[in-house]
Amino acid sequence: MNNNYHKILGLRELTSSTFVLEIERRDMKFEPGQHILLGRAGDIHHREYSIYSGVEDKALEVLVKEVEDGEVSKTLKHLKPGDEVEVQGPLGFFTLEDEFLQTGNRFLFIASGTGISPFHSMVRSFPNLNYKVVHGIRHASDAYEKSDYASIRYVACTSRDDQGDFNGRLTSFLQQNEVEPDTHCFLCGNFEMIRDAMNVLEEKGIPQDHLHAEVYF
Ligand SMILES: Cc1cc2nc3c(=O)[nH]c(=O)nc-3n(C[C@H](O)[C@H](O)[C@H](O)COP(=O)(O)OP(=O)(O)OC[C@H]3O[C@@H](n4cnc5c(N)ncnc54)[C@H](O)[C@@H]3O)c2cc1C
Repeated sequence: MNNNYHKILGLRELTSSTFVLEIERRDMKFEPGQHILLGRAGDIHHREYSIYSGVEDKALEVLVKEVEDGEVSKTLKHLKPGDEVEVQGPLGFFTLEDEFLQTGNRFLFIASGTGISPFHSMVRSFPNLNYKVVHGIRHASDAYEKSDYASIRYVACTSRDDQGDFNGRLTSFLQQNEVEPDTHCFLCGNFEMIRDAMNVLEEKGIPQDHLHAEVYF
């Protein structure tokens, strides 16, 4: 038996292409914001996935978007309860350091698509966090499990419909809204979004050491 093999407990479909994979956690410890390397048991292909669940949750969860012609994301979508996956990790340093977590510190979480996953883990793990999530998505239906965030702390920026909280790209939302210079900004998702959003935040006077990024692709 391979020690890194974990059983699938379930799969929650959130949209036609996005789902949460519920994996047996066993005794895995992690810090919110970290990711795992994941693939079907016995498969040579593995990919990085941020941990979506909180530190107190029983299952280990990841939020996955099925990429057209993607190798691993497609395979994960077809897993059934009882199937096994290989999990390596946790890995990475996209985490909230103890000094950030002091009372009063303000966090801005900026995500495109499934890039919201590490922030979901942080919000679930630290209930008193003073945060705002700005989520760039195409349609309002891509606001994955938004009821897990306090409604005043979550802004869906929809680029392809007007059913979100802000109609347009998240960079436009950032341009049009104030960001206090002492805010700790965490950005996660695709490279172009992160680059553009960082430029806006720098123009607003956010110091470099308050900017943290995790690039997915
Ligand atoms: C640190 C880290 C954490 C990550 N966490 C997550 C996560 O929590 N959830 C998640 O869904 N993905 C996450 N990713 C992306 C993930 O690792 C895979 O790249 C993705 O699932 C595609 O893998 P694949 O084998 O299906 O496609 P591949 O066969 O590897 O690639 C197909 C193509 O799809 C592009 N691509 C990758 N991701 C996307 C996307 N979301 N939308 C559109 N195109 C894409 C790739 O650039 C590539 O050109 C993370 C990546 C990194 C580096």
